Amino acid sequence: KPTELSGLPGGVGEHLEGEGVEELYPPQAEAVEAGVTDGENVVAAVPTASGKTLIAELAMLSAVQRGGTALYIVPLRALASEKKTEFERWEEYGVTVGVSTGNYESDGEWLGSRDIVVATSEKVDSLVRNGAPWIDDLSCVVSDEVHLVDDRNRGPTLEVTLAKLRRLNHDLQTVALSATVGNAPEIADWLDAELVDSDWRPIDLRTGVHFGNAINFADGSQREVPVDSGGKQTPALVDDTLDEGGSSLVFVNSRRNAESAASRLGSVTSDHLTDEERADLRELATALRDVSDTATSDDLAECVAEGAAFHHAGLSSEHRDLVEGAFRDRLIKVIAATPTLAAGVNTPSRRVIVRDWRRYDPEFGGMKPLDTLEIHQMMGRAGRPGLDPYGEAVLLASNNDTKEELFDRYVHGDPEPVRSKLAAEPALRTHLLATVASGFANTREDILDFLGNTLYAVQSAGSAQLESVTDTVLNYLAVNEFVDREDGTITATEIGHTVSRLYLDPMSAAEIIDGLRGSEGGDDRTGNYGSRGGLADPDGDESAGFTTANDLLDDDALAGSDADEAGDADEAADDEDDDVSALGLYHLVSRTPDMYQLYLKSGDRETYEEELFERETELLGRTPSEYDDVAFEEWLSALKTARMLEDWASEVDEDRIAERYGVGPGDIRGKVDTAEWLLNAAERLAGELDLSNVVSVREAKKRVEDGVREELLDLTSVRGVGRKRARRLFEAGIESRADLRDADKSVILGALRGEKTAETVLENVGREDPSMEGVVADGDAKRAGR
Ligand code: ADP
Repeated sequence: KPTELSGLPGGVGEHLEGEGVEELYPPQAEAVEAGVTDGENVVAAVPTASGKTLIAELAMLSAVQRGGTALYIVPLRALASEKKTEFERWEEYGVTVGVSTGNYESDGEWLGSRDIVVATSEKVDSLVRNGAPWIDDLSCVVSDEVHLVDDRNRGPTLEVTLAKLRRLNHDLQTVALSATVGNAPEIADWLDAELVDSDWRPIDLRTGVHFGNAINFADGSQREVPVDSGGKQTPALVDDTLDEGGSSLVFVNSRRNAESAASRLGSVTSDHLTDEERADLRELATALRDVSDTATSDDLAECVAEGAAFHHAGLSSEHRDLVEGAFRDRLIKVIAATPTLAAGVNTPSRRVIVRDWRRYDPEFGGMKPLDTLEIHQMMGRAGRPGLDPYGEAVLLASNNDTKEELFDRYVHGDPEPVRSKLAAEPALRTHLLATVASGFANTREDILDFLGNTLYAVQSAGSAQLESVTDTVLNYLAVNEFVDREDGTITATEIGHTVSRLYLDPMSAAEIIDGLRGSEGGDDRTGNYGSRGGLADPDGDESAGFTTANDLLDDDALAGSDADEAGDADEAADDEDDDVSALGLYHLVSRTPDMYQLYLKSGDRETYEEELFERETELLGRTPSEYDDVAFEEWLSALKTARMLEDWASEVDEDRIAERYGVGPGDIRGKVDTAEWLLNAAERLAGELDLSNVVSVREAKKRVEDGVREELLDLTSVRGVGRKRARRLFEAGIESRADLRDADKSVILGALRGEKTAETVLENVGREDPSMEGVVADGDAKRAGR
């Protein structure tokens, strides 16, 4: 019983009981036996929705009770505030909670005063790099979804971060929560932890495959569910669940599919709605529309009015909250979702339908079956404890062979083992520089010793791979002058320190430095040299416009071989006063490995080739040869991304942008945020290297930050003045902060369209008497009255 647990802050046990936790679930009890409330390391590999969060809470609360502090690492930024809100219910027992989602660079000092801090692994990594003092004093770290160390992109950061935290503090309690995986003992071995490895679930799960006119369950039983008149399986299954008063969660493989499935399923759900539900849904639809003025908002509202919704990472968090809440309240009857957030979001449902079990994989060059682990996580969302007799998870097969394959792979098959992805060079490049810069290790031996704390070391024991890849990366860092090697001591250069603190991939930094230097007039010009050299393609490829790292070892060779070829680039950068256009800078940051570029869709290639032809002179660096398919295509994707950023920074409406580039509002935000961060980094690098174009960089950054043209920047620097208000003020003749302080109030009110808004803005700009009392708005706000 929770009330019988010792070592927790007073009242916590009773509180849990009040929430319906009358007894610990078996895996939770096992974790307690393993010492999770006594500071012991524990790895809990248990199915989705089996109460992992409580294991984490028990660990953290008991650590706090002992006078320590705890860190909870979430896998996705979108989950950080959700978890914080969840943990905040402990504040009434004197436990303070903070979340760190902000700037990569802020050192997060205030977080040191919190008992529990929630953060992504990237954020924690950055806090460690910046030497946030409280990190050393942590007593407990929880890693949620630790199986994601297997993720190619983000896994290495989690892996290295855990290794660092554990090296900083040898007594640190490590608690890792994982889905059921193929090699849980190995993970426990890596973290020196006791293992809780369990298949237990709070509610029975029946899994099966729908084929023909029936669900075939793993136990051999069948349930007849005839396909609908159009031969479709999903609507028939959703309809069948609704007949029983249950809701469904449908997993599909893309955002577009989620949206179209939700729209189609609306016609199924709408037949099952009561008048009251209809009215509530209409209200919800209005609330969704009010969240943002975009096509996604409208589409979502339209489905929701019919009782269906879609859910994917392109939605804003307000959208998601509303949808998840209404689904839990059983108002929304079906959600069509992409799997991205499935793992972390608590949205159980009577029936889970896994419609798409394959996904397009660019590296694979085609549709690839999803990992068993991932499918199991989706299936685990089936069944609401206390509400449903059992949960049902159904995969869809269109023929008998597929049916057999699905049974083998996902119903009877075991989840894959988790494999470290640390040896991938981009990951190691970033993390080795950080390790050196933060003084963690300063000789080759120390570095290898530190890497010995990683899962990768556990899994590659006895092979020489770790050493050879480490050497390659150290060479790259040295060649690009991010580290110095002298007598066996490896130290970060000044620029190396900056790059690490900015949290840039060194390759991004090299690309940016190179682009900015190349665009400078005068003697500094170094041509277009190889920020990408030497790693992915050790032999280099002149036609791609990149030289290799080896060439860089010899400045003369560089000058000699590149002098002629740099001719094109010269033309491009032939600008008297070193001004570079915003587009040029957006393109530069868009082609770094830190930016996920927009894909080229069919037809895009022609569009952006034309665009390239028109605006090539603005771009920094040399366009790769068209014969180098990969590099050229990337260049065009970066141009598409840059054009989107330029549109945003030119006040194009969000929904126009969404339509033009085929993206959701969440994507626009994401690209804008990344660009802002990279341009901030570029500004810092330009400043440190004394480059003359630092002013252009700053301006391009501010424009993307505020989403406005240059002329509005002064206005948008006032709190409460966004891109739209700034434009209306400008059109009314109010062009600056100074104008706001002096201009006729009726004109300001006319442009800002609201007394309260106008007063707040005037307060923010420091106007003497901001009151709007008795002021009549100038309808024809053309005259500024100056
Ligand atoms: P996981 O993190 O494993 O996916 P959660 O921690 O989100 O699962 O738990 C799923 C649900 O089960 C939550 O709503 C939680 O409140 C509830 N829960 C957890 N432990 C217990 C328990 N011992 N008794 C009753 N309900 C519990």
